[in-house]
Amino acid sequence: MDIEILTIGTELLLGFTIDTNGAEIAQAVAAIGGRVVRRTSVGDEPGAIEAGLNEALARTGLVITTGGLGPTRDDISKDVVAQLFEAPLEFQEEIWRRLVQRFERMGRKAPESNRSQAFVPRGATVLNNQWGTAPGLWLEGPRGTAILLPGVPSEMRQLLKHEVIPRLTARASGTVVRSATIRTTGIAESALAQRLGNIEAELAPLSLAYLPSLPGVDLRLTAWNLPPDEADRRLSDGSRRLRELAGEFVYGKGDEDLAALVLDRARSRKLKLAVAESCTGGLVGGRITAIPGSSDVFLGGIIAYEDQVKLRDLAVPAASIATHGAVSEEVARAMAAGVARQFGAELAIAVTGIAGPDGGSETKPVGLVWMATSVDGAVESFHYVFPGTREEVRARASQWVLFQLLKRIR
Ligand code: AMP
Ligand code: MG
Repeated sequence: MDIEILTIGTELLLGFTIDTNGAEIAQAVAAIGGRVVRRTSVGDEPGAIEAGLNEALARTGLVITTGGLGPTRDDISKDVVAQLFEAPLEFQEEIWRRLVQRFERMGRKAPESNRSQAFVPRGATVLNNQWGTAPGLWLEGPRGTAILLPGVPSEMRQLLKHEVIPRLTARASGTVVRSATIRTTGIAESALAQRLGNIEAELAPLSLAYLPSLPGVDLRLTAWNLPPDEADRRLSDGSRRLRELAGEFVYGKGDEDLAALVLDRARSRKLKLAVAESCTGGLVGGRITAIPGSSDVFLGGIIAYEDQVKLRDLAVPAASIATHGAVSEEVARAMAAGVARQFGAELAIAVTGIAGPDGGSETKPVGLVWMATSVDGAVESFHYVFPGTREEVRARASQWVLFQLLKRIR
C-alpha cells in the first residue's frame, strides 16, 4: 500500500509552522505496513493544491491531506477536491446540527462562517470530528482515494487514530514497517560507526540509520514489509547486537530520556538525588522533574549562580573560588559534596561552566564546564569544552552529567 501525504497551508511554506502532521501520519502509516513514498507541502492556493493532489493520485492512487478545512476564506482544500472528483458540494444538515450543538455546549452561537464546514462533496464519507469543528472527509473516485484531515494537530491525530488508520489497516497487506531505536551519548557519529564496523551486512534485511542530535546519536533499525512477528524478532536481535557493540555509550531505547533512566536506577536502589547548578540554571532539575514520578527520588536543588550563593548555600570554601575560580574542578566537587550534605542525598550532581557567548578566556574558553557527581559521599569530577551556542553548551552539559551519574549507579 503506497501512500502520499500532502500537507496544505501557507504557514508551512513560510516555515512558521513545522509540518508535524506529515511526520505523525508517516509514522502511523508505516506502523500498519503502508509505504509513504512522498511528502509534499503546498500553500493555500487552488492551483498548487490541485497539482499536488493530481500528482499524488497519479503516482499512488492514495493521498492523505491535512489543512485547509477551516471556516475561513483561505481554507479551500474541500473545494479543490470537490472539483477534482467531480463531486459537487452539498449542505449536510446533520453536520451543521452537530456544529451548532458544539457551540451551544460552550455557551455560544455558531458563527455563520462555520456553515461552510457543513458542505461535503457528494458521495464522500464524513469522518466525524468530536475534537473540533472541521470534519474529515474520505473520497473514493476513479482516480483513487483522497483522505482530507484538518490541520490542527490534536484534531488530525484523533481522526487519524480513530477513523483513518482502522480503515487503512483493512487494506494493508499484513506486513508492517517497524523501527527500534537505541540511544547513545558521549560518542561522535563517526567514532560510533567505526565501533560498529560493517554491521549493516549482518543486520540485513533491517536497515540502520545514524541519527545524530544534541543529546547524542540514535541508532534506528527499521524492518520493512515483514510479517509483524518476524519484524519484532529481527528488531530485538538487531537491537541486542547494537547494544553489545556500542557498549557503555548506550543509555536507552526508543524515546527514553536519560533523566528517566537515572530516576529508574536511583529508585530501584532507593537512592535520593539533589542537584547544584550554576551555568545550567535548573536545566538538570527541569529534566528530572519533567519525568512523572520523579518525586520519590528527587529531593530538590540549588541554582547557585552567584558566587555568594555557592558559598552560603553549598558551603563551597571561599578559598576554592578565590584560588581556582568559580569554574573549576575544586568548586564543582565542593558543590556536589555541599548539595548532597544540605539535602541528605546519596546522589548529587553539580555543574559549573562558561556557557558563553562571552566570559571566556585563554585558559577557560567558552564551553568549558566542570561537572561532578557524588554517590554515597564519593565525588567524581570531569570537565569538557562543549562546542556550540549557549543553549547547546547547557544542553550538552546536562546530558553529559546525567550520563556520568547513570554510569555510576547502573
Ligand atoms: P487549517 O486546518 O488549515 O485551518 O490549520 C489550522 C492550524 O493547524 C494552523 O494554523 C496550523 O497552526 C496547524 N497546522 C496546519 N497544518 C499543519 C501541519 N502540517 N503540521 C502541524 N500543524 C499544522
Ligand atoms: Mg490553513
